[in-house]
Amino acid sequence: MITSVEIIKSNLQTAIERVEDALNSCGEPGRTVTIMAVTKTHPASIAAMAIEAGVTLLGENRVSEGGRKVKILGKNAAEFHMIGPIHTGEVRQAVRDFHWIDSVGRLKIAREIARRTVSKGDEQPGILIEVNTSREASKHGFNPDYHLLRDALGEILELGLRISGLMTVGPLGGTELDTSEAFALLRNLRDRLERDCGYELPELSMGMSDDFVPAVAEGATTIRLGRYLFGPRQID
Ligand SMILES: *Cc1c(COP(=O)(O)O)cnc(C)c1O
Repeated sequence: MITSVEIIKSNLQTAIERVEDALNSCGEPGRTVTIMAVTKTHPASIAAMAIEAGVTLLGENRVSEGGRKVKILGKNAAEFHMIGPIHTGEVRQAVRDFHWIDSVGRLKIAREIARRTVSKGDEQPGILIEVNTSREASKHGFNPDYHLLRDALGEILELGLRISGLMTVGPLGGTELDTSEAFALLRNLRDRLERDCGYELPELSMGMSDDFVPAVAEGATTIRLGRYLFGPRQID
């Protein structure tokens, strides 16, 4: 696939326009929605083009693949987000290479992040809690049952980690209603957790190429775009 800074810029512009339309229709013009460029399967050269096109957040779903690109581009080139499931054995590399781990979907991972950072007096990465809002077996993340999630958040906070918000992946091939419901569920869970725990969770990372418009309507603060910006994925 051939892409260029110009093509990425133009795709970014149409995404921004669609986000603005969605914000206008839900009566929230001016609310900030950040676009993360998901560069998984694409080479570092394309990630560099995205940065040149004006993107400041890059998302990768594999620790080793993402780590290679961080090394090539330099860690200061962008804000690097890990958005895929990680194993405990990969946490060491993930906290070294990524500024954020958005896909903390198991307590084991949270414990390992705390052990590798907070316990040593090191700075922790930004963290989002991933919730499996569609309950699909193929999806990762915490159970969306409110009480289970509240207990999990409590345990994670006790580890000394700071949590900035929640992340989810919308249902695969669901109806428009299923999709909107999954995003509304994430927002409702966030609202209840904030109220009950007295803890602020401002970030809602939800919405990908096929479903970012409903995600914005339901309150996304960050949307994660891969194919919309770069065309089809390259290797997988
Ligand atoms: C791949 C991926 C994206 C981007 O998906 P597109 O459909 O290419 O926009 C977003 N979030 C996660 C967690 C992903 O794995």
